[in-house]
Amino acid sequence: MINILKAIYYEICSYFVPQKVYYEITGECKQCGKCCNYMYSYDTYTEKEFKIMQFLYPAYKRFYIKGRDDAGNLIFACKFVTPEGKCSVYEKRLPMCKRYPLRRLRHKAILHEGCGYKVEDIKFKDFLK
Ligand code: SF4
Ligand code: SF4
Repeated sequence: MINILKAIYYEICSYFVPQKVYYEITGECKQCGKCCNYMYSYDTYTEKEFKIMQFLYPAYKRFYIKGRDDAGNLIFACKFVTPEGKCSVYEKRLPMCKRYPLRRLRHKAILHEGCGYKVEDIKFKDFLK
């Protein structure tokens, strides 16, 4: 009887367990500079939006529009990356630069080809281990 009650209890509990999938970033930076030379902004699609963003966040004036990808999305680059791919203002780089790439994400990220980091799926079953 106890086992049946336990089974019912676990069955009910299972409906309240959210399906979680995380992506973990592992590896290390090879200092190729691609992420400073080719950036995307998920909420900046037009030149006008880019200017508004720079007006709202003056620190972003270090970025400029480098071009568009095949899908028409804007590609940005930073004025402070050296031809060797290094940051020339490393001690004063933006917090977003310090955090990049985040170690754990809720959405699948696409890293630059040849980047020293890689994206690994962390599935719900991994939480159970
Ligand atoms: S693209 Fe990857 S390896 Fe290259 S500088 Fe950026 S984080 Fe480092
Ligand atoms: S401030 Fe430095 S780390 Fe940040 S995007 Fe520019 S070159 Fe890269």
